[in-house]
Amino acid sequence: MPGDAKTRAGEPLLLTPGPLSTSPETKAAMLRDWGSRDSDFIALTARLRRRLTDLVRASGSHVCVPLQGSGTFALEAALGSLIPREGKALVLVNGAYGRRIAKICGLLGRAHEVLQSAEDTPPEAAAVAARLDADAALSDVVMVHCETTSGILNPLEAIAAATAARGRRLLVDAMSSFGGIPLDAGRLAIDGIMASANKCLEGVPGVGFVIVRERHLETCAGNSPSLSLDLHAQWRGLEDNGQWRFTPPTQVLAALDQALDELDAEGGVAGRFARYWENCRVLVDGMRALGFETLLADERQAPIIVTFLMPADPKFEFQSFYDTLAKQGYIIYPGKLTEADSFRIGCIGHLDAAAMRGVIAAVRHSLSILDVHDLAPAQGAAGTAA
Ligand SMILES: *Cc1c(COP(=O)(O)O)cnc(C)c1O
Repeated sequence: MPGDAKTRAGEPLLLTPGPLSTSPETKAAMLRDWGSRDSDFIALTARLRRRLTDLVRASGSHVCVPLQGSGTFALEAALGSLIPREGKALVLVNGAYGRRIAKICGLLGRAHEVLQSAEDTPPEAAAVAARLDADAALSDVVMVHCETTSGILNPLEAIAAATAARGRRLLVDAMSSFGGIPLDAGRLAIDGIMASANKCLEGVPGVGFVIVRERHLETCAGNSPSLSLDLHAQWRGLEDNGQWRFTPPTQVLAALDQALDELDAEGGVAGRFARYWENCRVLVDGMRALGFETLLADERQAPIIVTFLMPADPKFEFQSFYDTLAKQGYIIYPGKLTEADSFRIGCIGHLDAAAMRGVIAAVRHSLSILDVHDLAPAQGAAGTAA
């Protein structure tokens, strides 16, 4: 795995939450044309559906329904198809992706209420339990596993237990964790998991998917207000003849199949989780040694993307910082917090600890170009609860 950005034939390393850096083999897997009704492609689709379901140990109970588009398309399809028209969702929000789920529920006309916590604070299972106990109309809990806005890991296990104990369904936006953080859908009693190809699976963008409890999906005919985003119809189409209802992203799926081979070769999700943690540790230790502060306390951090607080020094101008890093071959990500001025650096994709050390060296060089020496954030910018 190349650690030096300059070994990549002029391609920058993407330190973003996706799309992100993919392997040469994954890119090369796209150099073939596929007939969408051909038996080879039907077999590819079936294999992918099985492999994705196996990754969350859900074969037997759940089915994988793939869907064209970015992750949000899969999210919108899941919310519109899996929450009954007369149902009501409890949406847990501590960042932009949770807010997006609530917005989609509103646009789809699904009754919902929001349980809000601060952007650096995970939702509490006890609060979820209290809301469910107080309102018998709540049928579904919807949460984000890793809230990519901050990089926080939300307490899936405790919330799944509180939800299952009360007989409600749980839908999880695992977009930025699927394949990178171990997840057991069967043991945790999760009814729907929404994810996409181009984050921790290290595939290319263009397809999302939902892993759904089959017993529930069977009851979802006619729920969706959409034709193309109807998960039940998409599932029935695939089950009936193995074919996609509408033009499938053939090359994207071939790349995903190759990316899954690489995930297996790395030791599966556990192996990838270990590499991402190593990336995250090198990044956080290196940035702290330079003087940067993280938004999150370490025990709340997922090994996916790290939010750093913006230094108060006016010479630290984010666009210049970004540009000097890009010139050295590293693409970072702006912040998305509403509460603190920040920027983000991702730990995921086809990169290793050597690449992360390269990032730190590039950041040090950028700071000298910008002539910034004091990296303390503005007073009060730190969102981290001590
Ligand atoms: C990336 C992401 C999405 C989907 O984003 P798209 O741009 O539509 O692919 C949804 N939720 C979370 C938590 C994400 O990280």
